[in-house]
Amino acid sequence: MTTSTPLLDPSEPPACEIVNAGGTGSAVLVCDHASNRVPRCMDDLGLNAQQLADHISWDPGAADVARALAGLLDAPLVLSGYSRLVIDCNRPLQSPESIAEQSAGVPVPGNRNLSAQDRERRIATFFQPYHQAIEQLLDARRRQPTLLLSIHSFAAVLNGQHRPWHMGVAYRHDHRLAQRLHEVLRERSDINVGYNQPYPIEDAFDYTIPVHGEGRGLASAMIEIRQDEIQSPATAATWATRLAHAFRTVEAGVRMAPPPQPAASRERNLVTSPTPFIPRDIS
Ligand SMILES: [Zn+2]
Repeated sequence: MTTSTPLLDPSEPPACEIVNAGGTGSAVLVCDHASNRVPRCMDDLGLNAQQLADHISWDPGAADVARALAGLLDAPLVLSGYSRLVIDCNRPLQSPESIAEQSAGVPVPGNRNLSAQDRERRIATFFQPYHQAIEQLLDARRRQPTLLLSIHSFAAVLNGQHRPWHMGVAYRHDHRLAQRLHEVLRERSDINVGYNQPYPIEDAFDYTIPVHGEGRGLASAMIEIRQDEIQSPATAATWATRLAHAFRTVEAGVRMAPPPQPAASRERNLVTSPTPFIPRDIS
């Protein structure tokens, strides 16, 4: 492969998929880790089939939930088309986890010793088209009420620890949507709903909500569902139904809620983070 060869052959799927672009509901959905696909030219990044199927490569089940939810809420949905190990669409480009050389202790041979040009090509081929699709979608909805939800999944067991939450709702500074969703979802006694757990949204680890949600002043939240809860399209649909119910319950109230201080919601400082980067256990 020469440096001028495109990373994607025309016969391969595009960098992102847009579903129901003209959806008229107030939700816009994004799924950063929807796929574990690796472009053919990257030879599976040197990983075996089990590693590629594992949570280090994608968020299993998240795309099924997101597609079902898009139908229930008549919401546009943007899904990334390639593995987070090709480039992570929810990591700032400055992050060491943007193109991870290892993930959860698994070395990723195809990500070692990349040149600056290699990185630029991945950014241009995968990261930018995905985020441009979200940007264009949100630009086109400037006059429509819009609440942004990103859909993720997390591993049931991490580092030998079972994680008790069935799902989590997270926010960064703007809690308008996350707080109300959490209040409604936790009313069910059979669901353990984390609030900023298992993960909060942080500048060092997150890109999509800080940029497309809070960066635009849109009420937004990250949804994480435990992977053993959504192992089939049927169980994913059950979770989509729960989320759709919660969203419909809160959406009018969230749309009426005043945004937080603009200075806080629009502030974004990825480059000069005062704290050293400490890798977070993935998904
Ligand atoms: Zn994810």
